[in-house]
Amino acid sequence: MDRKVAIIGAGVSGLTCGIVFAERGYRTAIFAKEIGQQTTSGAAAAVWFPYDAEPAKKVIPWALATYKALADLARMPAGGVSMIELRQFSRTGEIQIPDWAISLGASAITSPPSVMSSGVETSLALVPSPFASGFSLRVPLTDTTIYLDYLATRFRKAAGEIHANVHFENLEDMDSKSDLVINCAGIGSRGLVRDHALEPHRGQVAIVPRIEDLSCAIVCDDYPLMYAIPRTNDCVFGGTNEISDNLAADPTTTSRIVAECSRVLNINKPRVIAERVGLRPFRKSGVRLEWDRLRDGRTVIHNYGHGGAGFTLSWGCAREVIDLAAHAATTP
Ligand SMILES: Cc1cc2nc3c(=O)[nH]c(=O)nc-3n(C[C@H](O)[C@H](O)[C@H](O)COP(=O)(O)OP(=O)(O)OC[C@H]3O[C@@H](n4cnc5c(N)ncnc54)[C@H](O)[C@@H]3O)c2cc1C
Repeated sequence: MDRKVAIIGAGVSGLTCGIVFAERGYRTAIFAKEIGQQTTSGAAAAVWFPYDAEPAKKVIPWALATYKALADLARMPAGGVSMIELRQFSRTGEIQIPDWAISLGASAITSPPSVMSSGVETSLALVPSPFASGFSLRVPLTDTTIYLDYLATRFRKAAGEIHANVHFENLEDMDSKSDLVINCAGIGSRGLVRDHALEPHRGQVAIVPRIEDLSCAIVCDDYPLMYAIPRTNDCVFGGTNEISDNLAADPTTTSRIVAECSRVLNINKPRVIAERVGLRPFRKSGVRLEWDRLRDGRTVIHNYGHGGAGFTLSWGCAREVIDLAAHAATTP
């Protein structure tokens, strides 16, 4: 395969696309200002769940394809992917279990069991205060501290190249020797392709030490957004979702997040190891996954605007990108 592909972006979207192309024999290079941990992807929780991304009719099929890919990766623990029980709660009224969740075996949470796995009776109910109802399902969880490195290593093993610390003003400036350009610049696409439909949905999280007995992910999307996601070596407490470009962590917000998570988990407030902020690339008109031509005639495939679901959609979208590349190559 002689086709040369240049990808902009080394977050979860760019790295996943890189693997899909490189493993099919394309000569693939990734160019990015930041890689892995420094990107928005490095700030993510990152549990599988179709949240804050549009439109549902495309997002759900991409999410379900990704579920399968991540569940397969979970059989190989070194990749940082595991399967976890996710408990999704509502603060008001009876929660509706979406059809896609039912297809994955979701069930309503009805009786008060413990969120802790130690076998010790705790005062935490299955529907803990302040929630009214919930449902539970098993989902993939990617530990970003491991998974992003795993993606980069797998990409390089397939002869992919990563060039960091490069900034582009225009897609036409990218590697002129490449036949195909893939845009995975996330929120950076606002400047790169002047996309004003992109909104920065700012998210702040607090990383706290591992909570020994917390065996499932607790999530509530109602205001105030709340989640506690146990990872291999620590736990992610969240969160926020507001339109803002501010990448600085706000200490008052961290205190609020830690207080709310501790209240729900019925534990003493843990110490904060780190705070992270990222801008979810939300696109009002929906994820942009389409092909076009650059001014110099090369094909570009846009793959950005995944909002709060970049991990959840990553493999489904990457496979559609490579299908589009094949289609564009045969279209005059
Ligand atoms: C707090 C928080 C929690 C989240 N939780 C989840 C979750 O539980 N599950 C989930 O699925 N998703 C979650 N998300 C959303 C997810 O993180 C994003 O959807 C995802 O990271 C987007 O990935 P991306 O690769 O498209 O963009 P990014 O990770 O932002 O990567 C963009 C890349 O493009 C590069 N770039 C941009 N512009 C330029 C330029 N002009 N020149 C050169 N390089 C450029 C950047 O340097 C970077 O490498 C969360 C996000 C946040 C902030």
